[in-house]
Amino acid sequence: MRNCFVPFCDMQCKDMEKRMMFLPPKDEETFAKWKENLPKKRPFKRNDRVCERHFHPEDIVKTWEHVINGQVFHLERGKPRLKQFAVPTLNFPNDDEIRDRKPRKRSSNEGSSGREVKKQRKQVVEILEMSEKDISLIKEEQEAELAAIENSNEEKKRAFECLLEEIHDVILPSMLWGIHRDPNQEYFAFTFFDEGRMATTKIVHVDSNLIMSTHIKGVLVSSDELNCDIVSGNGTEYLSAILAEIDEQVICPGLDESCQIYPETDSTECSQCQKAREA
Ligand SMILES: [Zn+2]
Ligand SMILES: [Zn+2]
Repeated sequence: MRNCFVPFCDMQCKDMEKRMMFLPPKDEETFAKWKENLPKKRPFKRNDRVCERHFHPEDIVKTWEHVINGQVFHLERGKPRLKQFAVPTLNFPNDDEIRDRKPRKRSSNEGSSGREVKKQRKQVVEILEMSEKDISLIKEEQEAELAAIENSNEEKKRAFECLLEEIHDVILPSMLWGIHRDPNQEYFAFTFFDEGRMATTKIVHVDSNLIMSTHIKGVLVSSDELNCDIVSGNGTEYLSAILAEIDEQVICPGLDESCQIYPETDSTECSQCQKAREA
């Protein structure tokens, strides 16, 4: 499991071996010092964790010290701990980096790049019809189109990375919902635990291409690409709203294999489960 409080740290350490994670100290004074030192992208809380990269190595205690007959022996601790007043000070991104990593909102001119490309293409066709020779213009147009696709992929990736960073700001509809982040940063997911069925009945999964798929009772019910502009602007609010909507969806309690998931109008179960129960 990797989720360091420091913005973009997990992203940078994607290929690093397992890092040691530390919870903040219990005493108020040192906790306040941690809070003061750490980047203030979101409020630092008691259950947030900070990885080893942000501490001086000498502040991390990895061994038990035993003195036997005046001789000191070091025994490796299963779980390293921090020295009592250790405070994170190293490897923070500076404000510029935090800002640069945030997906920039496109100005309305840039926003229409797709349309712009289409318009260019039309112009190219017209020019060709007139002169029937200017091949270099087609090439330029194709290159522009490719660049536009590359740009939009890059933008999607950045929007996804930021969403992953801010995922804990998403408001879950209830305590029965959970948040999951892929240790390899390829996706995140929300799940709803249904105690009655002893199962996870609703899953909302978002991959790094911003494809959001919803599984209900193990069946894929929808798969859409999230709008990159909305996600870049206020992704966590948007996801909170989507989850609230899915939370409210009433689903058929039936266990029949052919369950249609959503109940018929004026019924609590779907037609298939109703049939199966009556049979
Ligand atoms: Zn870290
Ligand atoms: Zn059913």
